[in-house]
Amino acid sequence: MNIQLPALKYAKDALQPVLSEKTLEFHHGKHHQAYVDNLNKLIPGTEFEHMSLEEIIVKAPLGPIFNNAAQVWNHTFYFEALTAPGSCTTKPCDCYAKQWGSFEAFQEAFNKAAAGVFGSGWAWLVKTPEGALQIIGESNAGNPLRQGLKPIFCFDVWEHAYYLDYQNRRPEYLSKLWDALDWSVINARC
Ligand code: MN
Repeated sequence: MNIQLPALKYAKDALQPVLSEKTLEFHHGKHHQAYVDNLNKLIPGTEFEHMSLEEIIVKAPLGPIFNNAAQVWNHTFYFEALTAPGSCTTKPCDCYAKQWGSFEAFQEAFNKAAAGVFGSGWAWLVKTPEGALQIIGESNAGNPLRQGLKPIFCFDVWEHAYYLDYQNRRPEYLSKLWDALDWSVINARC
């Protein structure tokens, strides 16, 4: 199976001023593309060749095939949930306020977890098999599907996600990214 880079559903300058056109050009056009290309070079002739990305993520041993498959999936999931800042007319599901007391308290907890990921990685909001929401940080290509958790949304905290726009100011990137979330997509995953 040849893995394809999914097109963005918005123009590369649509996420300004939260994320610049330059960031999208590199992040989607170079980084995401490179994970797709790497995976397409790694899987031919292996047991993973005809598996879905999700199957590879769950079954591959830690290493290059897992890393590239998870990074393809993670980035697709991240970009899908973004939209032009301020354009989303759908309200977040009230599940966050129910579990954290208020939406703001949830945001604060999520940002804290995302800021606390040491080095490259991802912050995830997931649903457990029991139906509870949980915030988790993952290093590098980490993906919660591997632990049987259902991903709801993620913030990419690799420096390549924010360095061109925010340099070392990860907390500022995190606080601004909320303005670019598409809750119609995220609520449908919840
Ligand atoms: Mn990234």
